[in-house]
Amino acid sequence: MTGIVVKSTGSWYVVRDRETSLLHRCRLRGKFKHKGLKVSNPLAVGDVVEFEVPEQAEGAGVIHTIVPRRNYIIRRSVHKSEHAHIVAANLDQALLVVTLVSPATSFGFIDRFLVTAEAYHIPAKLIFNKADLYDEDTLDYQQQIAGMYASLGYPSVLCSAETGDKVAEVAALLPNKVSLLSGHSGVGKSTLINELVPDLDLKTAEISAFSDKGKHTTTFAEMLEVVPGTYLIDTPGIKELGLVDVPPAELAGYFPEMRALLNQCRYHNCQHVHEPGCAVREAVDKGKLAVPRYESYLSMLADEDNRH
Ligand code: GDP
Ligand code: ZN
Repeated sequence: MTGIVVKSTGSWYVVRDRETSLLHRCRLRGKFKHKGLKVSNPLAVGDVVEFEVPEQAEGAGVIHTIVPRRNYIIRRSVHKSEHAHIVAANLDQALLVVTLVSPATSFGFIDRFLVTAEAYHIPAKLIFNKADLYDEDTLDYQQQIAGMYASLGYPSVLCSAETGDKVAEVAALLPNKVSLLSGHSGVGKSTLINELVPDLDLKTAEISAFSDKGKHTTTFAEMLEVVPGTYLIDTPGIKELGLVDVPPAELAGYFPEMRALLNQCRYHNCQHVHEPGCAVREAVDKGKLAVPRYESYLSMLADEDNRH
């Protein structure tokens, strides 16, 4: 049988059968090593697995094969001694819920998310929520911001989860995809998920009925079925998806508008800070590269430098 991991509690996994959509509580057989990076979890939400279930309905299933991942997102552990954690695998897109008011999401936060998505080759989109609270000026501003991000390859939707306005446009992004939904707490992510996933309470109760039988209850992500074939991965408790060790020299490559300029800098190892003949700085000075984006770059560069 083939299924998708919809929740993981460390030693137990809830797997949704691809054919029947039924949930099964499974264990992993054998040792699986992640190639490259040391990770704390062999399996993550979104992983496609081959599994068997015993004849008697109450018995736990056994996962024996993990289908190679198309992509995955890793979260760096806070403590250096701990391994990184795979948040989710096999994503078709990453959606970030943001808002310009109450409280405004910072550009730094948005750009970090977008850089993470770039690094993992996952298409990213923005959902501007709480539109009902934007005054005229804020709406104009939103248009500018949305236009800027769209020109970089990040489309967006403006909606209000509270009034339901344009939530249909968000829903239209989802069919037949696995979408990660992320956002700073307070932006309205839960309200939005409630609107997007029919019978949400029933579905989450159903999943926890399987997973809570396990010993560990720490979970990092949960895959919700919108309709068969369409899935949302919610990441409760994850404030920010951490980038795992981006060498400072590679960071600019994850900013699409900088990527195009990199071979025009005088020095091949230019970090686009103070170097003479820097094409990126020149673009900023000429107003061709948005200042907030460049500031996000500088701030991320400083963080990476501190880590190396
Ligand atoms: P989460 O932390 O991102 O899951 O945010 P919640 O969904 O819990 O929402 C945080 C607060 O914002 C709650 O008081 C919601 O009622 C409110 N909220 C969510 N979406 C909207 C919206 O579109 N408009 C307005 N005015 N309030 C919203
Ligand atoms: Zn440069």
